[in-house]
Amino acid sequence: MASTQPSPPSGHSTNDPATPWHTQSIESALQLINVDPKRGLNSAQVAEKQQKYGPNEIETTEGRRPLEILWDQFTNIMLVMLIAVAIVSGILDLRNDNFPKDAIAIFAIVILNGLLGYFQESRAEKALAALKTLSSPKVRVLRDGQMSEVESPQLVPGDMIFLEAGVQVPADGRLIEAQNLQVREATLTGEAAAVTKHAETELGEDTALGDRVNLVFQGTEVVQGRGTVLVTETGMKTQLGQIASMLQSVETEPTPLQQRMSQLGNVLVTGSLLLVALVVVGGIIRTGFEYFEHLLEVSLSMAVAVVPEGLPAVVTVTLAIGTQRMVRRNALIRKLPAVETLGSVTTICSDKTGTLTQNKMVVQWVRTLNNAYLVTGEGYAPWGEFQPLHEFSENEENPEEKPKLTPQHQQELQPLCVACVLCNDAQLQHQNDNWSILGDPTEGALLALGGKAGISKDTWDKQMPRIGEIPFSSERKRMSVICQDKDRQLRTENSQLQMFTKGSPELILQRCDRVQSGSQSITLQPEHRQQILAQNDLLAAEGLRVLGLAYKPLAEYTEPSETADEDTTENELIWLGLVGMLDAPRPEVKDAVKRCRDAGIRPVMITGDHQLTAASIAHQLGISPSGERVLTGQQLQHLSQGELEQEVKQVSVYARVAPEHKLRIVQALQKQGEFVAMTGDGVNDAPALKQADIGIAMGITGTDVSKEASDMILLDDNFATIVAATEEGRVVYSNIRRFVKYILGSNIGEVLTIAAAPLIGLGEVPLTPLQILWMNLVTDGLPALALALEPAEPGVMKRPPYSPRESIFARGLGIYMVRIGLIFSILTIILMVWAYDAAQTGGDAGRWKTMVFTTLCLAQMGHALAVRSTNRLTIQLNPLSNPYLLAAVSVTTILQLMLIYVAPLRNFFGTHWLSGTELAICIGFSSLMFVWIEMEKLVKRWWVNRQQS
Ligand code: ATP
Repeated sequence: MASTQPSPPSGHSTNDPATPWHTQSIESALQLINVDPKRGLNSAQVAEKQQKYGPNEIETTEGRRPLEILWDQFTNIMLVMLIAVAIVSGILDLRNDNFPKDAIAIFAIVILNGLLGYFQESRAEKALAALKTLSSPKVRVLRDGQMSEVESPQLVPGDMIFLEAGVQVPADGRLIEAQNLQVREATLTGEAAAVTKHAETELGEDTALGDRVNLVFQGTEVVQGRGTVLVTETGMKTQLGQIASMLQSVETEPTPLQQRMSQLGNVLVTGSLLLVALVVVGGIIRTGFEYFEHLLEVSLSMAVAVVPEGLPAVVTVTLAIGTQRMVRRNALIRKLPAVETLGSVTTICSDKTGTLTQNKMVVQWVRTLNNAYLVTGEGYAPWGEFQPLHEFSENEENPEEKPKLTPQHQQELQPLCVACVLCNDAQLQHQNDNWSILGDPTEGALLALGGKAGISKDTWDKQMPRIGEIPFSSERKRMSVICQDKDRQLRTENSQLQMFTKGSPELILQRCDRVQSGSQSITLQPEHRQQILAQNDLLAAEGLRVLGLAYKPLAEYTEPSETADEDTTENELIWLGLVGMLDAPRPEVKDAVKRCRDAGIRPVMITGDHQLTAASIAHQLGISPSGERVLTGQQLQHLSQGELEQEVKQVSVYARVAPEHKLRIVQALQKQGEFVAMTGDGVNDAPALKQADIGIAMGITGTDVSKEASDMILLDDNFATIVAATEEGRVVYSNIRRFVKYILGSNIGEVLTIAAAPLIGLGEVPLTPLQILWMNLVTDGLPALALALEPAEPGVMKRPPYSPRESIFARGLGIYMVRIGLIFSILTIILMVWAYDAAQTGGDAGRWKTMVFTTLCLAQMGHALAVRSTNRLTIQLNPLSNPYLLAAVSVTTILQLMLIYVAPLRNFFGTHWLSGTELAICIGFSSLMFVWIEMEKLVKRWWVNRQQS
């Protein structure tokens, strides 16, 4: 029980005594803060208070602390093994009275690698945190007598803010007004059930936090209703601020890929330790302890060679780059795994309104019982005309003359337009000759319609003030308000109280028993019902969004409650008419749908709108062919989950669905093996967003709650953005595979070359641990990072998605690595044998080792260039499409040459000076690697062509 919760610490420190706001009446709270509830604060007061109280932000220690990130670098198993190698190598050197150069260098590289990893990871983490703030909630606030939207950090005590379903409460405050307001306060009290709030109550001082029903608290979620709040505390002074340390931190769990990579690291380390044991034990058995040190050297080199030291950092950076690329295309990633799994999406379930359509509504048709009206005008501007339709055709004498509205028309239109503006929470705004809306576009269109009939919201709100309401929700698909009509403004049934209802026409009609005809209301006959439903279908089939309007004079006022009202209040209504509004499809979506299909992804529309509207828009966009079956929420309700699993295979359009149906649809699709992306904006969409493999919230129209539950936010609410993000996801994943194949192929080549040396009787290890580290970190690392920036291959959206559960080595990658590793080592071993013999005949005998080192490094440069495409030859690619790779290859080659020709570096890395001929031989051998990979592509192409012909 909430009441058993202990009272939390007070809102102020002892020298700033807390005001127990819950004990104050509304008036005294307003007086204490000194604010006019009709005008809010003025700009000067806001500026002064912002100065005094600072931003409304919670200072959390989000994410990992810097020290934690640093520590994580050195607990990486690969680095631990390198440290062990350094220690053993140091001991060996010291025993032989040699300077422990390798050990020091390895330590230096370990530290460097750790620091590099640290900087990369903390940058990636900061970038992620910055992305999160991009989605920081906006709040509707009254300042200077004007309603506007501000970012929640700009709120100050004294602000009057407005809450509605789906909003995350941005600060602590005293309720001034509450309409069916229910708030989930689990963040603070742990209580999962929503608390119903009341503005009028005053409570005792010792009332527990969970029972302070006249207050709202920062970080809690409005699940239903509306409220007006006087902000009392902001930032760290809020209840949440005081327990900020308990806040969940940014999720930094590794992505599936990162997990697989660290598993791979473990496997490699274990494998290399086994290899070391094998070489040492095998060697001892064969030759006794005589060559023990040599064996140890060989095995240390092998242990270092097998581990891809640069890989974890490259993966982290690639994922971070992926999120940046996606945000540039308006997709904000909230959970890192989404970057790599987006490319695997097989079905995209999308809302209609705003995502597939523009969400810029304009009413085009109005139908009352006796007339149809074409409404002219554009956008939200309240200018336009009502043209009665049948008179249009009747005026045969002068067809050019526009028909006029008669008093009889006015009698039907007036209450309908009054219902449109009073049963409405939006506001029209007029700035620089531009009309826009604050609030729901559907309601904005109704305000514009009212304006065209000379009925303005501001005036009518004053004439018929609202005293009660039952808010809109996607489940109810309707909304009602109760207004006082003391002066009998409404020229209909006389009553001092009027209720207005608007919503889904079928539902409203079910609740009507009369219909407005002129200034009278008459009994609604079955033929009237049929006629209205037929008109509804006609408008919906045109792709219009249709709303029904009704009213009811009330004898007395009882506060409506959502559960009790269903059958008592919102019934016996008088039907006023239908309005049909155009919400045109977004122009870019048709192409995006096609791209989806080409990419083997099925687009599915799930909407709360009418089935005919849904079918028409789906057809226009190419989501489903004309006449294809649409499954409605009502039909879905009667299907068992097993039956639904069969249906989801065929159905691409769902209409009149409630949010809980969305959850069932996702589950059914997933059961069919689909990898589902699902959009949502409402507070009740959260479970479906969480269940979906990729939950997508709307950046503009989405509620805070839906954003919180999502993996990705669409900054422009646009379906085409999902497709663009999917493409980026595919690019990220294929780039990851590209550099994994590049890096690990080289590691295999190194190990085999080192292992071959003693086998073919060369008395020395060709590569020192230091040289191997250089290769793994620098000559592999830099080009690998550049490969992570590779642009999309042309066919990336022309092939079906790959399974997100496939192994990273799937589709030939494992075999490729082993094959290329073998080729690598065969080439290097041939060179090694030749160079070893040549070096014995004169000059510096160690030159052969440097030739092996150089060949391995340069061959990797060729590999980097060739691995860019699996099918296309390198000469067919635009070399400038990835300038980073060209730069990385050039820089790495120059560095490699410096190791040979700059004396101090030569001494440090233990390399030898090579003659021009020797260098040319190295270049020749290493370019064979490039030639080999290009030949493979040609053979593969020939084979595919042969299979096809
Ligand atoms: P989508 O799910 O594709 O966004 P939608 O916007 O139509 O579609 P909802 O917002 O759940 O879905 O609306 C469902 C239905 O409720 C609408 O088709 C309309 O009939 C009705 N409706 C929508 N907005 C309002 C509103 N502000 N007041 C009353 N009824 C509304």
